[in-house]
Amino acid sequence: MDGPVILAVVVVDQAGRGHQSSTRFFRHAKIFSLPPYKLMEMHTTEYIITGRALLGEELTEEDVCITVADGVIRSVEPCSGIPDRWIVPAFFNAHTHLGDTVAMDLPVQGSLAELVKPPDGLKHRILAATPRTDLIRGMRSSIMTMISTGTAGFADFREGGAAGVAALREAAAGLSCLPVILGREGGEQVGDGAGISSIHDVADAELMVREARAAGRLVAFHAGEKNPDDIDGALAFEPDLLVHCTHATDAHLRRIVDMDIPIVVCPRSNWMLGVAASPAHPPIARILELGGQFFLGTDNVMFVQPDMLQEMAFTATVYRAPPAEVLRAAIAGAALAGRSGFIEKGQKSSFLVIDPVRHNLSFSRDIRATIVKRLDSSSIEQNVLTLR
Ligand SMILES: [Zn+2]
Repeated sequence: MDGPVILAVVVVDQAGRGHQSSTRFFRHAKIFSLPPYKLMEMHTTEYIITGRALLGEELTEEDVCITVADGVIRSVEPCSGIPDRWIVPAFFNAHTHLGDTVAMDLPVQGSLAELVKPPDGLKHRILAATPRTDLIRGMRSSIMTMISTGTAGFADFREGGAAGVAALREAAAGLSCLPVILGREGGEQVGDGAGISSIHDVADAELMVREARAAGRLVAFHAGEKNPDDIDGALAFEPDLLVHCTHATDAHLRRIVDMDIPIVVCPRSNWMLGVAASPAHPPIARILELGGQFFLGTDNVMFVQPDMLQEMAFTATVYRAPPAEVLRAAIAGAALAGRSGFIEKGQKSSFLVIDPVRHNLSFSRDIRATIVKRLDSSSIEQNVLTLR
């Protein structure tokens, strides 16, 4: 066993559908001790789970019974007398570089270009010198970290061409966390799309975009991380996704919103790499004012733990964004995997079961704010991560 063990409560109900009393719930509860990344095996069982859930894209708080079969939410019905339990959509980390787990917290300083710019930035030299087995082991351990903190899927900018994409597939094999792999240098032809570093860093962006589009795959760009100079070049390709936009101008943001392109913001990474030092960057408040869509991502594991709970707390604290917006941004990136990510009838079951009584969370007057500001993995009772 190569992961942490958690205590999971799995509700098994053989026959009865519809309304279940809390007594019935507990009678059918079975207690298992399982590594969290194995919990996906549960989706073969039909079960009902009851609690206070955050429903739909609006994350509306309601006491419900949720019936799940074959990994799909079959019904969500109002329910009374429920146990003290919160059911919250699992998270989707919309931007990672898992490969650089192997360079975690290397004590170095330097500019953005010196540290992460391809092809010769420090991280790329480290990746090139890392044996494949170590690379895979690092990425797999980061995926298990994501699972234990409630993340059901992620979109990774994978370096290293087609071999890099294959290495991440191997790292994610059998785990209950869905990878969306955005490759480069040929990786875009075998992954889920192209993850293009700044338009200024690559010579063949046009070819990569053409090939990704021809195969019906996603096109994503880093843009506006350090300054706004590379945003127009990225927008010329009408990408499906922009990552960062930390220094997007108001005119850029209006154009991005008009083009209906979601923006992944990575606040902790921006601060850590010295490209942000105020709540104006990335311009989360302005994106919301303009009616744009933003997702949260954690960027390089080299600098930032891929933990959406920490990312939400930082974003809520520094950017003062409304908790519901922050929570939605931590979930909605599932659209990159063609899923809603929210708790709705017909959607994949992808949620966390939180025990608010275990610590002090049961005193919350606003579940959404408490999840965003205070939740850590110790209150997560069970991960149901069947986004696949
Ligand atoms: Zn990045």
